[in-house]
Amino acid sequence: MKNLYDFLVVGAGASGLVCAIEHKNKFPQDSVAIIEKLPRVGKKILATGNGRCNLSNLDACKYDYNHPDFVSAAFEEFPVKSNIEFFERIGLLTYSDSENRVYPYSNNASSVLNALRNECERLKIDIITDTPVQSIKHDNLFIINNNLKCKKLVVATGGKSSAVHGSDGSGYKILEHFSHKIIKPVPSLVQICTDNNITKKLKGIRVKGALSLIKSCEKIGHSEGEILFTDYGLSGIATLDLSYFVAKQNDISKLKIEIDMAKDFSEKYLFSFIKNEISHNPENTANNLLSFILPQKASEVFVKECGIDLSRKFVSIKENEIHNLVNIIKHFSLKIIKTKGFDMSQVTCGGADINEFDKNTLESKKVRNLFCCGEILDIDSKCGGYNLQWAWSSGRLAGLCKEKK
Ligand SMILES: Cc1cc2nc3c(=O)[nH]c(=O)nc-3n(C[C@H](O)[C@H](O)[C@H](O)COP(=O)(O)OP(=O)(O)OC[C@H]3O[C@@H](n4cnc5c(N)ncnc54)[C@H](O)[C@@H]3O)c2cc1C
Repeated sequence: MKNLYDFLVVGAGASGLVCAIEHKNKFPQDSVAIIEKLPRVGKKILATGNGRCNLSNLDACKYDYNHPDFVSAAFEEFPVKSNIEFFERIGLLTYSDSENRVYPYSNNASSVLNALRNECERLKIDIITDTPVQSIKHDNLFIINNNLKCKKLVVATGGKSSAVHGSDGSGYKILEHFSHKIIKPVPSLVQICTDNNITKKLKGIRVKGALSLIKSCEKIGHSEGEILFTDYGLSGIATLDLSYFVAKQNDISKLKIEIDMAKDFSEKYLFSFIKNEISHNPENTANNLLSFILPQKASEVFVKECGIDLSRKFVSIKENEIHNLVNIIKHFSLKIIKTKGFDMSQVTCGGADINEFDKNTLESKKVRNLFCCGEILDIDSKCGGYNLQWAWSSGRLAGLCKEKK
């Protein structure tokens, strides 16, 4: 470890590691270091994609992010393909699934981290662990924790999501010290707590469906995919994706979620389908009324919810009751109470105000030679590899230390 570095990155997460690598490749003569508060680097990478690390998405483009114009420069410089090639160069093979999500060929997040660590070692980048950055002073040089100095500094400390993986929001304080504005951080890609009278009866049941986020009768968000009912409300990929829209709302107390558990069928079709079933099987019992579309247990819960005794025969079901059944399948509505919070969230919505950074270089407009990359900036996206994609592209862009245009 030296006392003065040319280029120093705070935070050895996804964006910080690639930032240091990109810089050292471009400026081999520079001394480069990464300071990390945890005992090991890249802890969060190991947890991503349920341990498989969904590291990018072939479809990712600037419109998948909350500030398309700001991310455009990083995506032009380092598009998805270029990041996949970057990983190939450092010894990682990848594949993409049917939804264009990119994973390491080994299906193991540790392969991603190993490739990044090996490359840091090969390039002789100093990695200083167990060192939380608490203070940074700036004169001509940056002085970190009153001892380490550097000429150029990158803050890559992530957001506030999942503090157990290191990102506890301490980077915001560093930036505030340099008078940077922080847009209020809110947890995103997180489970949603709803009124749970019914969801707790459905606990553990997964359905495929479409979720709509409703505010005063207006649809303000939509997602599709797996929904998991829990004792507190909803989880599953479709829920995490919907939470992206919840995070963008100031007041969540007036929000509702509407679940369509048969998105491929119209109400008219379902009505006639149930009617036919009833005449085809008049002696069948009501507990099976919805089992053609839902798991048995869920069928029973929703039939009961429509006020129909489970032991009744199909033949006794009236038209208005069929309407109620169709309505609950297509428009099951739940009031949102809150989201599960930062500790459970995958991504932070909010962060360093992008208006104070040059999108072409990611350098601060307030402090020369200060850069930011990754989730600490107010950039976020949905599930599916989009957030790591931003971490790689923004990290590499910051590493280039481009001159301002
Ligand atoms: C459980 C989970 C699963 C996820 N799965 C996916 C996925 O499959 N695909 C996807 O695209 N995205 C996923 N994400 C999101 C993705 O991991 C993040 O968007 C991405 O890691 C952000 O990268 P970053 O470099 O900005 O920050 P981070 O990866 O959070 O890294 C920040 C680093 O800075 C360090 N640090 C923080 N403060 C300090 C300090 N003061 N001093 C020194 N070091 C500090 C931290 O310890 C950490 O190592 C997931 C997130 C979680 C929590």
